[in-house]
Amino acid sequence: MMTPERRARVNSIKKAIVIVNFSILFIAIVGCIVLGTRVCSMDGEIKALEAKLSKLETENSNKNQPENNPDNNILEDESKENQSDDSLSVNQEQNGEKVAYLTFDDGPSDSTYAILDILDRYNVKATFFVNGKDYNSYADQYKEIVKRGHSIGMHSYSHAFEQVYESLDSFKSDTEKIHDFLYELTGVDVKLYRFPGGSSTTRTTQIELYIDYLNSKGYTYYDWNVSSGDAAPNKLSSEQIINNVMNGINGLDRGIVLMHDSTIRDTTVEALPVIIEKLLEEGYIILPITDMTPPVHHAI
Ligand code: ZN
Repeated sequence: MMTPERRARVNSIKKAIVIVNFSILFIAIVGCIVLGTRVCSMDGEIKALEAKLSKLETENSNKNQPENNPDNNILEDESKENQSDDSLSVNQEQNGEKVAYLTFDDGPSDSTYAILDILDRYNVKATFFVNGKDYNSYADQYKEIVKRGHSIGMHSYSHAFEQVYESLDSFKSDTEKIHDFLYELTGVDVKLYRFPGGSSTTRTTQIELYIDYLNSKGYTYYDWNVSSGDAAPNKLSSEQIINNVMNGINGLDRGIVLMHDSTIRDTTVEALPVIIEKLLEEGYIILPITDMTPPVHHAI
């Protein structure tokens, strides 16, 4: 038999155990509630951050990020087929977008693949005004220009001023020669033309005759309104080329940029990624010239 004192002690120990158990349970419940609330609020924060991120991504893809722009694929495919549909560029110009056309003259050369790879990296299409080069060395480069979705234009077969501009007959035969050469190599019925030296060249006094001839053939000639200066006798640094392009295009809504695809002009290749990045930063979309692109002509 327990004495009353012993029973009272046992009871108070029991009470203490119950209180301790309840306290532990209470602390555990409160802890769960606090943690649960914190998890819920973090979940909300995560959702808010996710929403913010997806909004930023959408905004970014709406800017000129060609790799994310599904319309660009249409342009790419169509420009491979032929060069007659410029509806995208016309629409984009109508929408008040600033457009830059990168053009490379005098190729193909040993720099062609490097230029093509850079353009691919940025998913940018350009225009190559080419000459007639040694078939064995450069046949693949002509085909590759077309295959990768760029525009190809004539820049005379020989690029020898005294030969091309000797007479109307010599101009005609040179133009037919480069046209047929390109048609046989690439299958493209090329309609774009750029005069060696531009239409304002001082190498001939009868440029109007040649322009009439081009018009009669349905060819469109394109000069440029931005010069990279990369054909200067003393090779420019890539910084100078970048500055020439960016200063030249400053304030223009449509810039046709003259550059050269030439084996010796490696600073053009060095400058190209920076030029593309800066043009995109400045809000330009970069498009190839097609025969629907409104031309830029020098004053004759
Ligand atoms: Zn040239």
